[in-house]
Amino acid sequence: MLNYYRTEIMEKMMSDEDTKTAQILVRVSEEERDEWKRAAEVSDVPMSEMIRKTVGAHIRTILYCTHPLEFRITYPWSAFCDKCGERLVG
Ligand SMILES: [Zn+2]
Repeated sequence: MLNYYRTEIMEKMMSDEDTKTAQILVRVSEEERDEWKRAAEVSDVPMSEMIRKTVGAHIRTILYCTHPLEFRITYPWSAFCDKCGERLVG
């Protein structure tokens, strides 16, 4: 069963990978690269996927509201975050 899910996840990751067409070049030290590669191997994911997910999660905290739902003010036509003012819906 575990192998079934693992195969399913790997297939999804491969098809996700096909949609990623833009590339960036990041210069890092040899030591950083080796460390990133080791972390990806330990996590059992491709290094590009590990970097994408890690950076993506960080970017979301910078660009978008991550405040808890208790700060959400909801109107029938929209919703706002009372903490940062971001329009969340509508
Ligand atoms: Zn907010």
